[in-house]
Amino acid sequence: VKQKLTKEETLQLRKKHIGPSCKLFFRSDPLKIVRAAGCYMYDEKGCRYLDCINNVCHVGHCHPQVVSAAVEQMSVLNTNSRFLHDNLVLYAERLTSLFPEKLNVCFFVNSGSEANDLAIRLARTHTGKKDVITLDHAYHGHVTSLIDISPYKFNHPGGEGQRDWVHVAPVPDVYRGKYTDKDFTVEECTKKYADEVKQLCDKATKLHGGVSIFFAESMQSCGGQIVYPPGYLRQVYSHVRAAGGVCLADEVQVGFGRVGSHMWAFQTQGDDIVPDIVTLGKPMGNGHPVSAVITTREIAESFGATGMEYFNTFGGNPVSAAIANAVLDAIEKENLLDNATKIGNFLKQEFNRLKGKHAIIGDVRGEGMFLGVDLEQYVLLSNDGPYRNVLKFKSPMVFGMEDAKELVEKLDAIMTEMEAAENIVTNGMEKLMVNGNHDPRQQQQLTNGHANNNIDAPSEIQVKV
Ligand code: PMP
Repeated sequence: VKQKLTKEETLQLRKKHIGPSCKLFFRSDPLKIVRAAGCYMYDEKGCRYLDCINNVCHVGHCHPQVVSAAVEQMSVLNTNSRFLHDNLVLYAERLTSLFPEKLNVCFFVNSGSEANDLAIRLARTHTGKKDVITLDHAYHGHVTSLIDISPYKFNHPGGEGQRDWVHVAPVPDVYRGKYTDKDFTVEECTKKYADEVKQLCDKATKLHGGVSIFFAESMQSCGGQIVYPPGYLRQVYSHVRAAGGVCLADEVQVGFGRVGSHMWAFQTQGDDIVPDIVTLGKPMGNGHPVSAVITTREIAESFGATGMEYFNTFGGNPVSAAIANAVLDAIEKENLLDNATKIGNFLKQEFNRLKGKHAIIGDVRGEGMFLGVDLEQYVLLSNDGPYRNVLKFKSPMVFGMEDAKELVEKLDAIMTEMEAAENIVTNGMEKLMVNGNHDPRQQQQLTNGHANNNIDAPSEIQVKV
């Protein structure tokens, strides 16, 4: 790919004109990526990277059928959704057919943040209440309303702290959370975590007359790839509904089959688990900005009954709908849920093997292509979670067996090297480039990084091959 600028020129121009809070991956030597295909990315020198972090390019970077769906529709018509168009309604019909029956009304938007902000409005209108229950360490988006319900942001530098209408429940993490399987059975942990939500419902009712919404991812990504104990959502949903609130599943990161066994991660908690609102984003357009809120007829009617129109200039336009439809085609035709299960199981098994070999690995968890490796002592490469010590794996769904083997081999080598190194790191790091030569920069980078309050910046595993 021919370059318009040298890497240094790109960097300088970026410094000059892009807001300084928009961070780069790998601050000390940022990557300039010029093209990508499948689960590989290429820099300006043609160097190939195995991509374990781009959960957006779900069916693979630049998937040919997704690209041609975009080009074809773009060359015929793109306009707003106040005109009737087949793409919008056909996609809505197809998408809702993938949900439990009562979730059959869609609002199309352009980002996860827009979806979550609209979800808060829907819940507040429907319940007549304002208070929100969120999980600790959660991130739900960058707009004002969502910073307010994201402890990942409001409890960190630049944040304004907790609003009185926001209630933070502990993350149901039985490995490192408030109640762990060291002290209790998993069933006891589930109940204790769910009871915490009940107490917050009671508090919201006492303070402000009720709760509007329980807002949570179906598995927590930003908090460190946390899989909730069985029964958690069932108990929580029942407490929240008893208090008059509705329940939301943020599937922006974990939806569209990433967990392998199901299309939506909330389904892993049981067939009877049906949220009142689901939000979708990132993978939905494979890199094209299209997102959605899926809800029940009743909630949509309450919102409609206010008389205020909902209009979104780009949401659900014919091009976005064509792209989103092509993404579903690829997921189905290429059996990507099965691939996520197959590769995910292999990686979990291999990470567990590494756990037996490397004392720094404390826990291996996740489902399908949503995996986390919790490190006991040292923070390395892709770090996230409250202690910045969880290595996250969330590659495109086309990640293959050879890619998985390569990843395991490289991780094994790095961990061996880290354990052998005398000046082993105790602080965070920003980047660990894995290459065949074990670049001495690694050690330097191990020590110069620091935790970064940027949602996707912590999620870096790039294996240079
Ligand atoms: N919800 C979750 C769980 C997310 O991870 C993100 C983005 N990282 C969002 C919502 C916000 O999505 P967007 O960046 O598309 O606004």
